[in-house]
Amino acid sequence: MTDPFDLEHIWHPYTSMLNPLPTFKVKRAYGATIELEDGRTLVDGMSSWWCAIHGYNHPQLNKAVADQLQNMAHIMFGGLTHDPAIELGKLLLKITPPSLDKIFYADSGSVAVEVALKMAVQYWAALNQPAKTNFITTRSGYHGDTWNAMSVCDPVTGMHQIFGSSLPNRIFVPAPQSRFDGEWNPQDIQQLKQQIEQHHHSIAALIIEPIVQGAGGMRFYHPEYLRQAKALCEQYNLLLIFDEIATGFGRTGKMFAWEHAQVEPDIMCIGKGLTGGYMTLSATLTTKQVAESISRGEAGVFMHGPTFMANPLACAVALRSTQLLVEQDWQANIQRIEKILVEQLNDLAQLDHVADVRVLGAIGVVELTSNVDMKTLQQQFVERGIWVRPFGKLVYVMPPYVITDDELNYLLVQMSEVVKNMQGAQANVLA
Ligand code: PMP
Repeated sequence: MTDPFDLEHIWHPYTSMLNPLPTFKVKRAYGATIELEDGRTLVDGMSSWWCAIHGYNHPQLNKAVADQLQNMAHIMFGGLTHDPAIELGKLLLKITPPSLDKIFYADSGSVAVEVALKMAVQYWAALNQPAKTNFITTRSGYHGDTWNAMSVCDPVTGMHQIFGSSLPNRIFVPAPQSRFDGEWNPQDIQQLKQQIEQHHHSIAALIIEPIVQGAGGMRFYHPEYLRQAKALCEQYNLLLIFDEIATGFGRTGKMFAWEHAQVEPDIMCIGKGLTGGYMTLSATLTTKQVAESISRGEAGVFMHGPTFMANPLACAVALRSTQLLVEQDWQANIQRIEKILVEQLNDLAQLDHVADVRVLGAIGVVELTSNVDMKTLQQQFVERGIWVRPFGKLVYVMPPYVITDDELNYLLVQMSEVVKNMQGAQANVLA
């Protein structure tokens, strides 16, 4: 099944070249369907890691790429500009927090995070506070795989042990414990408060994924945390960076997750669903005040400029994808998905080997009591005609928004069967 060349020579995400996990060759994908080379079809539960919000092979997104191709695939952004970047920017400013006014296009989510961190440092340098270069963040966060993004990922489940002292030391506080739909516990903010009080002279910004901590544990926390965090940032002169790379474009039931708390950041990173999963593109947005302060600093400019900045093909498809989203009653659609997720998954919470079931918007999470054997589980999912990729203790789905009721029910029934059958056998724990 696994392609021998692929197995021997091509590195896949987070895999060993000595003992690689099997891969399944995809021939095509359309709607919420992934078709394998051997003809089997899978109902997609992953949206290719949050991206493919409108499903695959969407005629209008295909057309946006094809049309743009007639003009230019790429053009440098230094000294030149183009309509796809401009029109996309206009639309993004309409749907992001009102205080955000300036857009920096970058290549991937991780780079958007790097850009955000650099903005924060340059901001304080411009305001004659050059000591404010560090960052504070919560445990269980995930912000990407590049150097500084990695440094603010969870220090235990992230990559800190491997990269050790080569990573800058950040200040970590416990992850918020109050659940999104539960009672707010005022204790939750105490560590953040203490650490900010103690270290604010050296901290440029607090970086956090609003409401949903994604790859660091798929946790949904209380909006009050963000409100109090914002107040602390204001009181102690820290910028607030929201990483909305996973949460953006309707996934949590709001266009962006900040809306759950009505807290506006100073800097916000978006990516993933931005292009509907067609191409890699991200953006870091900030306020007029931050952008103008950076520009008044000694350097006079913001020091970043990727080769593929604002790639026209990516901007054109991002524009069409975002238009497609806002033109439809996407809230009702996310509610439809949420309702089915709740109906199908809630009963799993009664199983002994299930620690928790949680649903928010178009995200459904089953947290087990011990780590899953990804290889075995993935094989079982594929045999049942679904694409779900678990990690750690988590079996979770965030399907494309175009998924039909029937497809979604099928996906969840099959997934639930696999989870139920793990009873006893689930001691198949990975280290
Ligand atoms: N931040 C968050 C919250 C993410 O979920 C991810 C991707 N999983 C990233 C940053 C990094 O994005 P990319 O993989 O595009 O670099």
